[in-house]
Amino acid sequence: MGEEQGMKGSHGGESGMEGVAAMEACYQGFNPAAYLQYNYTAPRADFHRRDSIVPWKLSCLHKAFTEEGLRGEVLVDVGSGPTLYQVMSACEHFDRIILSDFLEVNRNELLKWLQGGEGSLDWTPYLQHVCELEGRSPTAWREKAERLRSVVTDVLPVDVHQPHPLPPGTLPHSGADCLVSSFCLESVSPDLASFTRALGHLSRLLRRGGHLLLIGALGESFYLGAPGLRIPVVSLEESQVCSSLRVCGYNLLRLSVYHLPPDMKLGVDDVTGVFFAEARKP
Ligand code: SAM
Repeated sequence: MGEEQGMKGSHGGESGMEGVAAMEACYQGFNPAAYLQYNYTAPRADFHRRDSIVPWKLSCLHKAFTEEGLRGEVLVDVGSGPTLYQVMSACEHFDRIILSDFLEVNRNELLKWLQGGEGSLDWTPYLQHVCELEGRSPTAWREKAERLRSVVTDVLPVDVHQPHPLPPGTLPHSGADCLVSSFCLESVSPDLASFTRALGHLSRLLRRGGHLLLIGALGESFYLGAPGLRIPVVSLEESQVCSSLRVCGYNLLRLSVYHLPPDMKLGVDDVTGVFFAEARKP
């Protein structure tokens, strides 16, 4: 593809509904297969390297669900995109998982795999790696795939800029026991105020005492959503993540940070680090 599309850094000055509408327009060109190729293959998903991004994220998720004992009935993953890695540990600890995304192309990509098809990425090495983290044989990956397929009950549309992001009646009255959201809020918000507002909307989906696992990019101003499609990102610092969580009333329990080694900088974004925050709604 020739000329670059997207908002090219215009997010700095825009706020409110105009900025949100411009972000929405940007996403119309999102290509799930390209996004998976950029972010979910080696070197970013190299299971033989301890310093690769994906194994780091999987290890954080594994610790949260296994070692810290997060469990419950309903877990919602907000802005799932075309990816499943973020619920591979969770599926052993929750009775029901709801996946969600703004775009139909992404929901279809998820449904393809959930209904037994292959999809654009082979998730087998991911399932094997998570089995190994759980102390199981990598050959148990088929059981994990089956478990994941049986526990995900819905793949729903979501819009984090709406005060009530999910369709009405989706969740128990008290809310979900746990929310996961990875690389969504900063990638769909025109500015920090909008990011924080969206984080507040998520809080409405969570029951009191429920946990939020928020994963996201640090220092990123854009990422490629398709060849030549630069999607602007709110460039976050650790301190801003902490203060947005505080403003929205969450108690921050843990924050881990991953710094990108130089050879993970591939030109598909300008991310410098990744944060993993575990917070609780009082
Ligand atoms: N969670 C995946 C991951 O970890 O790679 C995908 C993250 S991707 C950077 C951002 C996702 O946000 C895309 O799948 C996009 O469709 C979705 N999205 C775009 N606008 C949104 C909105 N208003 N509300 C919720 N999700 C949105």
